[in-house]
Amino acid sequence: MSWPPLREELRGIEPYGAPQLDVPVQLNVNENPYGPSPACVADIAEAAGRAAVTLNRYPDREFTALRVALASYLGKDAGSGEITPEMVWAANGSNEVMLQLLQAFGGPGRTALSFAPTYSMYPEYARDTHTRWVAGRRESDFGIDLDAARALVAQERPSVVLLPSPNNPTGTALPPEAVIALCEAVGDDGIVVVDEAYGEFRREGVPSALELLGLRRNLVVTRTLSKAFAGAGMRLGYLAADPAITAAIRVVRLPYHLSAVTQAVALAALDHAPELLGKVDELRAERDRLVTHLRAEGYEVADSDANFVLFGRFADRHALWQGLLDRGVLIRETGPDGWLRVSVGTPEEMAAFRSALADAQADLQNEPIGERA
Ligand SMILES: *Cc1c(COP(=O)(O)O)cnc(C)c1O
Repeated sequence: MSWPPLREELRGIEPYGAPQLDVPVQLNVNENPYGPSPACVADIAEAAGRAAVTLNRYPDREFTALRVALASYLGKDAGSGEITPEMVWAANGSNEVMLQLLQAFGGPGRTALSFAPTYSMYPEYARDTHTRWVAGRRESDFGIDLDAARALVAQERPSVVLLPSPNNPTGTALPPEAVIALCEAVGDDGIVVVDEAYGEFRREGVPSALELLGLRRNLVVTRTLSKAFAGAGMRLGYLAADPAITAAIRVVRLPYHLSAVTQAVALAALDHAPELLGKVDELRAERDRLVTHLRAEGYEVADSDANFVLFGRFADRHALWQGLLDRGVLIRETGPDGWLRVSVGTPEEMAAFRSALADAQADLQNEPIGERA
């Protein structure tokens, strides 16, 4: 017996870890490059200070004020549908929300299903909750073929379907028809989780799955403050769903899982939504400029509704990744073979990326495999 006496299937597994390197231009984990404004920082500090006075007591287990604020914020993307505080749940990052969903709706004898390439954490939540993991394939444009998806659902009978929209690492948003089709295919045997971690970055005219919440009771839409709200360090993710689903999650959550400080800080950040979302508009424009630039340079570029872009294809993507790092630009070596993912930063950071890319490519004389535009 090896030491420590770990579960068999966890032996030798490396924990999640995108490199955290101290380089000038960090475009590798889809963070928001803009920190909060001084006014927002002051409000957050004040809110944390007020929470500090109460730290001898357990926090509000129901995070009531935060749920009210999140419901009101989500309302703007819900179309004619209404989002009430009873429909909202939150945890320490949407990663924890997703794990709780699998704790409640996955488990031994049950199946979680997604479509690859997709977020690398999903199979880990499945493993950690003893849920069987099945990954269908995305099309060459990274969309989902609905007939194939329906057939896969009929065959595998998943109790949880995980659909990031926009998808990570490809940036692909799912049309509402796809979400509805999968909700119908799964039926009352399961839930369909649309992970909208990047929802606020979607292009003009691309709807949120929040609009569909009233139509299908097995639909769950998750969001986070990590990306659009420049709050990756806050650790606050949340979801909207039928109140019966939020009630089920309460059974598996740890007692008082959201600290008083987290609740206070998240509430203060939400008060600054208009300012923070203004930066999101700048990032969306910068994203579109990046896509145009990379296509003009002859790269293959996946359409993106997120704050990152997947581009390629490279015979040796690692060499290019290293070439960029040698020039002080950190991006992510992820996604299908031959592709790389770059997060959208400030205009200055993107200028540094473009010039490092040109230099690194010249060095490697590694022409993109993709067709010249
Ligand atoms: C970044 C990201 C999240 C957000 O995770 P947090 O735990 O909220 O920071 C969720 N889903 C996907 C697909 C992501 O890329």
